[in-house]
Amino acid sequence: PVMLLDVKDLHIEFRTRDGVARAVNGVDYSVEAGRTLAVLGESGSGKSVTAQAVMGILDTPPGRITRGEIRFQGRDLLTMGEAERRAIRGPGMAMIFQDALSALNPVLSVGDQLGEMFIVHRGARRKEARERAVDLMERVGIPGAAERVRQYPHQFSGGMRQRIMIAMALALEPALIIADEPTTALDVTVQAQVMELLAELQRELGMGLILITHDLGVVADVADRIAVMYAGRIVETAPVHDIYRAPAHPYTRGLLRSIPRLDQKGRELYAIKGLPPNLLAIPPGCAFHPRCPLARDICRTEEPPLYDVAPGRASACHFWRETLELGAGTGDGPG
Ligand code: SF4
Ligand code: MG
Repeated sequence: PVMLLDVKDLHIEFRTRDGVARAVNGVDYSVEAGRTLAVLGESGSGKSVTAQAVMGILDTPPGRITRGEIRFQGRDLLTMGEAERRAIRGPGMAMIFQDALSALNPVLSVGDQLGEMFIVHRGARRKEARERAVDLMERVGIPGAAERVRQYPHQFSGGMRQRIMIAMALALEPALIIADEPTTALDVTVQAQVMELLAELQRELGMGLILITHDLGVVADVADRIAVMYAGRIVETAPVHDIYRAPAHPYTRGLLRSIPRLDQKGRELYAIKGLPPNLLAIPPGCAFHPRCPLARDICRTEEPPLYDVAPGRASACHFWRETLELGAGTGDGPG
């Protein structure tokens, strides 16, 4: 498959009143055409900030890319001029946000917002733009699109609004879509429908998709690969099925065990102890050590490199072998 996006050694800092927050600390990932990469982690893990850097919408200042490379279709986005960059955004890549209500313009009808894409980028006339808007709404499964095209964002349900966001992102058939927690604000059944729609369109159009989420439960059927982030680093990356079978990092294992399961109804849900690290003072050694059930002395002093676990698999844990042997876990035992 064709390489779409290649992020290398990305570092991002935020200057705050209390010091420098190291939000992203050497992230590498890549996405191929037609593939889905799920980027997983708690809030503050750097997953959204990395995506914002890729999209070129990182708030600067205070956010600053201090090192690294972001190549899109072979070209480094960080060294190109703003005009060239703008030409890529929209037709090249598009983003879907969690909160459609604040991402959409409240005083424009959805038809005008969708149509605008075709007017600005494709030189379409009003009437044609309106027709394309209706087509798009139908494509993302909005019933009665021909009438509802005149309505405003607040007149749609949360799930339908999220479909409109997807339609906006798809309008110009970009090569890459980044979806940041696209279903988090929705209730569970609607979540599944929207996720299914996204996966279906991704396959149909052969786009690359980066799916950012804190919920390992929603990506199993959708993603090809998973990258798990913690404290601004990727701590595990693997093909999706390997992760569910046997994670190679205790943090991933904790996330897996925190997914509610039907066969464990009534049982208290596992939760990773402690809080995500303060990015102003990331713990030395392995950043996860204060929360890790397998932590030993070396973990407090030596930062684990990303060890090769198998072809296409890597883990930033000194004890990845032992972690693998533990398997996915059922709720008992260590970690
Ligand atoms: Fe836990 Fe140590 Fe592995 Fe970090 S390196 S995840 S603290 S066992
Ligand atoms: Mg986020």
